Amino acid sequence: MPNILVTGGAGYIGSHVNKALHSKGYKTIVLDNLVYGHSEFVKWGNFFLVDLQNKDSLKLIFKKHQIDAVMHFAAYAYVGESVHHPSKYYNNNVANTLNLLDTMLECDVKKIIFSSTCATYGLPQELPIPETHQQSPINPYGRSKLMIENILADYQIAYNLNYVVLRYFNAAGADPDGIIGEWHEPETHLIPLVLQAALREQGEVKIFGTDYNTKDGTCIRDYIHVTDLADAHILALEYLCNGGTETIFNLGNGDGFSVKDVIESARTITQREIAVKEFQRREGDPPILIGDAKKAKKILGWSPSNTCLDSIIDTAWGWHQRLA
Ligand code: UDP
Repeated sequence: MPNILVTGGAGYIGSHVNKALHSKGYKTIVLDNLVYGHSEFVKWGNFFLVDLQNKDSLKLIFKKHQIDAVMHFAAYAYVGESVHHPSKYYNNNVANTLNLLDTMLECDVKKIIFSSTCATYGLPQELPIPETHQQSPINPYGRSKLMIENILADYQIAYNLNYVVLRYFNAAGADPDGIIGEWHEPETHLIPLVLQAALREQGEVKIFGTDYNTKDGTCIRDYIHVTDLADAHILALEYLCNGGTETIFNLGNGDGFSVKDVIESARTITQREIAVKEFQRREGDPPILIGDAKKAKKILGWSPSNTCLDSIIDTAWGWHQRLA
């Protein structure tokens, strides 16, 4: 089986994909600088505590291991922080990715699967959002991801680097075995915050905006289960290994759930009180984000299986109870 280098394998999505790769028999070489990742999440593969800034270490790892393909998750992903510290985002997300890509080329590794985001689209002009939608990101995080997409396209033309870009909508849920899950410090995402409030049975969940033009006035998002995301990565890898050429896929549920839907579902699943407080809108939040993932279903044969909100929240709840 091929050796896969997984950058950011101690993070939320990277760790779930690392586990899925392992279960399919792939060997993984996992890199993470552990700034936001958790060493507890690297339970599979060969782990190296490395920052992609360190090109010499990267090169040594590539030379030592016969890497067949790279899955690149390592990135900072706090939108608000990216607005206040763009240098941190452009250096880590863009400059360090250049180190990775150039090391790959030096070591003749020509396949990469890149974690991108629906944040590269900016404000949606149509729904559900297709891959062909214009890309006008509205924050440095989204711009950093779009820059890498453009770099990949240029590297493909000039150096024959083959890639799949996966644009995630809202990753959610946890592996059903409950040993890895969503754990951000600080936490800013809706589902973990709602479940933390359920666990504590105190404090309030802030609802950012109740005056949007949506069915209940709150924002609608496309929550896609993290194990379904992991399946898509395996299919994208097989696609590249079977001679597929550079392409881009949205990965989403194709369905939208409001902030209030999430809170109601969490009340049902947890059977706990969850107090809420209505706040003003959070800056930069589009009212509705729903992805069109038909292309991934058609070309990769991807078929997400945890599409109902209750099942997404149920697995997340299992993880949060363990984490507590
Ligand atoms: N949200 C909220 N309260 C919170 C955190 C998030 O109302 O404490 C809303 C947020 O405004 C957005 C949705 O929940 O409409 C999902 O936000 P999250 O940060 O989880 O993901 P994003 O869509 O920003 O990537």
